[in-house]
Amino acid sequence: MQWETVIGLEVHVQLATRSKIFSGASTAFGAEPNSQACAVDLGMPGVLPVLNEAAVAMAVQFGLGIHAEIPEVSVFDRKNYFYPDLPKGYQTSQMYHPIVGPGEVEITLDDGSTKAIRVHHAHLEEDAGKSLHETFSDGMGQAMTGIDLNRAGTPLLEIVSEPDMRSAKEAAAYLKAIHSIVTYLGISDGNMAEGSMRCDVNVSVRPKDQAAFGTRAEIKNVNSFRFVERAIAFEVERQIELLEDGGEVVQETRLYDPERDETRSMRTKEQANDYRYFPCPDLLPVVLDQAYVDHLRDNLPELPADKRARFQEEMGLSAYDAGVLSASREMAEFFEQVNDVCGDAKQAANWVQGELSGALNREGLPIQSSPVSARQLGELVARIIDDTINGKAAKQVFQALWNGESDSADAVIEAKGLKQVTDTGAIEAMIDQVIADSPAQVAQYRDAEPDKRGKMIGYFVGQVMKASRGTANPQQVNGLLKERLDALC
Ligand code: ADP
Ligand code: MG
Repeated sequence: MQWETVIGLEVHVQLATRSKIFSGASTAFGAEPNSQACAVDLGMPGVLPVLNEAAVAMAVQFGLGIHAEIPEVSVFDRKNYFYPDLPKGYQTSQMYHPIVGPGEVEITLDDGSTKAIRVHHAHLEEDAGKSLHETFSDGMGQAMTGIDLNRAGTPLLEIVSEPDMRSAKEAAAYLKAIHSIVTYLGISDGNMAEGSMRCDVNVSVRPKDQAAFGTRAEIKNVNSFRFVERAIAFEVERQIELLEDGGEVVQETRLYDPERDETRSMRTKEQANDYRYFPCPDLLPVVLDQAYVDHLRDNLPELPADKRARFQEEMGLSAYDAGVLSASREMAEFFEQVNDVCGDAKQAANWVQGELSGALNREGLPIQSSPVSARQLGELVARIIDDTINGKAAKQVFQALWNGESDSADAVIEAKGLKQVTDTGAIEAMIDQVIADSPAQVAQYRDAEPDKRGKMIGYFVGQVMKASRGTANPQQVNGLLKERLDALC
């Protein structure tokens, strides 16, 4: 039987506010445990929450960024459950009237094609604290669980997709698209390793020709692009095997274990009514006036999908190049600066994706820490375009800039004497010398069938380039050599 995979993602994005969603406590990462949870975050009797306006603005910006409806009114609800990391006994969330309505996220697949994934809604909520199971003991070898409530009350935007994805690759591409939108907007640092973006992955399978969806399992808290793909791959295989053996998929919450590369059952899925949702009596409904939303809309930065389209349409880049160069805001800004300086988008794209990305990957550096600045790279590319240097010399210039030997491409070219030799007389003199020094190769060339000579010319080109220490113009060398050698035949 042919099976089809159906995936829907619930992505939790930690918003980059300085204080919590309902209190003034700091959200800074890495503080001493329990030093950043105040009475409001703990839900102590008598306290009242005050909504953080920055969190509202960020949620609305996200909504506008995915062309979503922004309802005039949204409402906070209490989601009641008991768990040690939630001392309030309820999580303040939005159930019935979320702040962001239906929208759409465009994903790019490996072959450069795009697909629209519908977003059902996005809502604001507070994060819970963190149970520390592994790092604790009572000092006498007895394992204990510690609790760090610093994260309690941290603002989260939960983005709920429609079940529109059909493969693990599409799910990873969707997560990457969300990551790039929120980091372009600057509403989250997107740091997955620190938990700033986590996702619950809903997976089901159905026979290829069946319209109804199968029963899904929800894999909780997957925190890397790679784990999303691996968890889905495992889960799809598990479900297909189960169904083909005549079994049934139960709707449940599962956990992905990266070490064993498998998902395990945690608990059967709660139904909404288990949570006894009701509107939070301590918080007023959020009412957004049109002018406020318009103001945010007018001030949105250019977002990845628009950038990608502009890179293709105005700069003539391929879909693939445009996708890579617009994936992160830092990458896009770097590329655009190189292009501004050198004036040739294709060359700028080649150098950023080729030589520069290669060097950054080798050193494990992000582009914002590149030792070669965008201005320096732009000037280097400009010297290739205006024929001051050839491609080979350009690599040497790049290496020198990377090593910090000089501050500019021009200074390196000057110091190392890399200026391309285009003077015909000078090149011909080198050619004469090489021919005089290579009687055996010349004889071979002369004796070869004319259609074999093309290949043999490489030897002479190499010698002349060597004689010029790589600075001769290779096209000129090729042309002049061919003339000279053919004249000898
Ligand atoms: P719940 O209220 O139980 O969380 P939702 O209807 O809100 O369920 O859906 C949660 C997520 O599960 C959404 O992202 C949705 O796209 C996805 N989803 C729903 N049904 C399926 C299914 N059959 N297969 C895969 N994903 C699904
Ligand atoms: Mg849900």
